[in-house]
Order: sequence, then structure tokens, then C-alpha cells
Amino acid sequence: MRKLIAGNWKMNGTKADLPQLHALAESHKDATVDVVISGPATLLSRMAETGLAIGGQDCHPSTSGAHTGDISADMIKDTGADYVIVGHSERRTDHTEDDALISSKTVAGWNADLHVILCIGETEAQYRDGETLNVLLAQMDHSIPNAATAANTTIAYEPIWAIGTGLTPTPQEIADVHAALRAYLVDRFGGEGAAMRLLYGGSVKASNAADIFALDNVNGALVGGASLKAADFSPIVTALEQSA
Ligand code: PEP
Repeated sequence: MRKLIAGNWKMNGTKADLPQLHALAESHKDATVDVVISGPATLLSRMAETGLAIGGQDCHPSTSGAHTGDISADMIKDTGADYVIVGHSERRTDHTEDDALISSKTVAGWNADLHVILCIGETEAQYRDGETLNVLLAQMDHSIPNAATAANTTIAYEPIWAIGTGLTPTPQEIADVHAALRAYLVDRFGGEGAAMRLLYGGSVKASNAADIFALDNVNGALVGGASLKAADFSPIVTALEQSA
């Protein structure tokens, strides 16, 4: 399994930030892991010119039509991107996206030949109530389409309370959750589930990356804030390359 490190620039970045990507592309042109940056739609074409793998942050479930302001998976592919994130908690919260919609966006991504990074995660209240696994298993049941394979889909576990907060679960908690996610994927998808990449996301930074990447069933990370500057993201890429 080739590991994956994905940056998520969210609603950040203008052309003045492209040198960050050129620097990253230069530092990691021979990377032994997949390195992807999911940028704002306005920059994707120019980001693709850096030679780095590029992703969108969302797509509409339809291929085209009267959906003002939305972007289809085909349009994302057309920029030169090969990935798309779906189901990020900020989409689920800000745009009231539910699992059924995320499932249809996943299929749209596949149909455009995009690799889908599908996000799941529990709220802080659900975490405190001991509901984490119930929430995650239900999200996977309803948002991962049956045709998911290791080649077309990566699952990102992102505790919502860890995103952008500086908080992270303990290594043991991450390992326990990822073991349960792997068991679910194997049970549902067999060998494809065993080979599907599982990312951790939520306040990953250079100082905690190696400990997180050392955990079983952590096959990479989805990184928000620390992906904006090459100097912050590059050591995380290197930590993943150096992980066993
Ligand atoms: C994210 O938005 O997917 C994320 C993990 O953000 P951060 O790394 O900033 O917590």
C-alpha cells in the first residue's frame, strides 16, 4: 500500500501562494508516498502546473447543469486534478451535507476518474459520550458506496474536535479507532477493504506526525493548517516517508 499525505488549503490561497507549491514540488519530486494538495477551485489549474498531485475540496453530484456556484467532478478533473475530498466536516456543517449526498458525490468523483478522499468524524459531544465508533460506522455505512475499492477511495478519519484546534486524540485512541475502521472495511469490502488507505486528520503537525504515522492502520494524513506553508508541510511529508 502506498501511503498518502493530503493537504487541504480550505478557503485559503491566491496566486501569491503558488511559490509554496513550487517549493513543495521541488522538495518532494522523488517522494516515496503520494503527496496531494487540495486547493481552492480558483487555483487548481495553476496548482496542477507545479507537477504536484492536486485535488478539489468538494464536487457536485451532477455532471453539469443549473447549479450556480457549484463545481462538478468533471470540471475538477479538467483542471488537471486527480483527487477530490468529499464529506469534510466543514461541508457537512456549513452546507448541511448528509451521508446520502456524500455518497452521490463520491460516485460523481469516481465517474470523473478522481480518487475520492471521503471524510468521517465525530463531534466533541459524541466523543465525550463514547459514541465515536457508532457515529463512524454509521457514516461509513451510509456514505461509502458499494463500488468502493482501494484504487478509487481513501477514508480520512477526522475527529471534528481535533480540526484546527491543536487537540488530538491520544495515539492509543487513534490506533483503536483505525483498527475498528479497518475491521469494518475488511468485513464489507474484503481484500479491497484491507488495501484501502486510512488517513488520520486533525491538528497534524511536524511535532506529532511521526508518532501518529507509527500507528498501525494509519496510512497517511489529511492536513489543514500545516499544509499552507511548504516549510510546515514538508517535514510532515518526510515523517510519512520515514514511517515503517
Ligand atoms: C482538515 O481540515 O482536514 C484538518 C485536518 O485541519 P487541521 O490540520 O488544521 O486540523
